Amino acid sequence: MRPMGVRSATLSAPGLVHKAGPVRIFNTLTRRKEVVKPLKDKRLGMYACGLTVYDFAHIGNLRTYVFEDVLRRVLEFNGFKVKHVMNITDVGHLTSDADTGEDKMELGARRERKTAWEISERYAKLFLQDEAMLNIEKPQIIPKATDHIGEMIKLIRLLEKKGYTYVTDDGVYFDTSKSRGYGKLARLKLGGMMPGARIEANPQKRNPSDFALWKFSPKGSKRDMEWNSPWGVGFPGWHLECSAMSMKYLGKTFDIHCGGIDHIPIHHTNEIAQSEGATGKKFVNYWVHAAHLIVEGKRMAKSLGNFYTLSTITDKGYDPMSLRFFYLQAHYRRELNFTYEALDAARNAIESVQEFVRKLNEHEGPKSDTRVQAMILHTGVRFVKAMNDDLDTPEALAVLFRFIGEMNRFMDEDLVSKADAKTALKLMFLFDRILGLNLKRSLEKAVLPERAKELIEERERARKIGDYAHADAIRRRLRDEFGVALEDTPQGVKWKKSQVPAS
Ligand SMILES: [Zn+2]
Repeated sequence: MRPMGVRSATLSAPGLVHKAGPVRIFNTLTRRKEVVKPLKDKRLGMYACGLTVYDFAHIGNLRTYVFEDVLRRVLEFNGFKVKHVMNITDVGHLTSDADTGEDKMELGARRERKTAWEISERYAKLFLQDEAMLNIEKPQIIPKATDHIGEMIKLIRLLEKKGYTYVTDDGVYFDTSKSRGYGKLARLKLGGMMPGARIEANPQKRNPSDFALWKFSPKGSKRDMEWNSPWGVGFPGWHLECSAMSMKYLGKTFDIHCGGIDHIPIHHTNEIAQSEGATGKKFVNYWVHAAHLIVEGKRMAKSLGNFYTLSTITDKGYDPMSLRFFYLQAHYRRELNFTYEALDAARNAIESVQEFVRKLNEHEGPKSDTRVQAMILHTGVRFVKAMNDDLDTPEALAVLFRFIGEMNRFMDEDLVSKADAKTALKLMFLFDRILGLNLKRSLEKAVLPERAKELIEERERARKIGDYAHADAIRRRLRDEFGVALEDTPQGVKWKKSQVPAS
């Protein structure tokens, strides 16, 4: 007689979801957790504000993108078909939120003595590489602002026709006093001190919270990026691009818009004002925001020397998956403090998970126990329940580690059959569809290619003569070309297969 196993129909994404209940997510608009209900069938449109590509993404930016990836994975696990759009901001994002200051792209161009176009191409490419290293599912559509100038001009024309705009010496502005419910996302009071209100703000602005839709190129100078418009040569305001591109790809009203909490009072508030002003329809149903990341207790800043990028961390020998795991340990709506001690702890934790996966895979045992099967199923439901409850990743990971502890105990007591171990392994891989830690790679036998061996030796020679720049360049090459991560230990250099495939 076959031992009664966990029915495979139950141990599947739909089976677990059926028992765990629907996805709830905290909506900034209502300040409540709400059940996610799509506008249409099981389809969800999701827009995420992408990076302003004038510099590397820092680990605070990347936290937000990992959070959005987990959100998408949870929704997909629940059977939704997600259309994920993430823009690339390559023009018009000024250094000051008050529509003064410099275009960050021009700033980057001057810093590196290149054109804004070259800067955009370089950092957009590096950003998408970082995303791939962190195992972030690629958004289906990644539109660039500079490819959508026509759509943005059309949107300004529509707003102009409806009486929302006025022109000053330096640009075309949106009159926020004409926008019904302006500031509802951030619960701002119009007329009070707005975050956009600064002393240096344009004196021709009618209200402190008014914002630029189009800025004119400065008189007598030519920008790298500028376009003709019915109002004069110039470039679009930053907020406008997200309204134009999100509505182009997802419709006038769509389901989910996400980003970092710093976007709530100005950027997302202004997106709502322009979009709803232009269409007369509700712009977005669910607004979802990730909290900040700080580094060693401080805000990240170049001047403090704590502007950390993914390379800062991988250059020290950490696998990108350790960073991903570190992010997952905190709830996305809580501020997260990055320290190397915490990253070490995350690395140890993920290594113990990988070890467990290998152990399950190799486990042999004749005996089967119904308690084991019940525990596997129970764990599956609890994990999905935690994830469906506003992406409670700390709770989901706690469930996962309890599971590892209990399975280890059952294995020690010889109560786990080979088939049950395989069922447990299947559950781990189901979890990983949400966590995105590339656990399947733990089972791959690592073989080092000849060329990689030579490079490791070359790096050792470089280190001996103190040429650390060359040594670091080789480390990066090993990572990028061979997916090999190096660690320098007192016993010499150790290598392992990185959890992400070389791209
Ligand atoms: Zn945006």
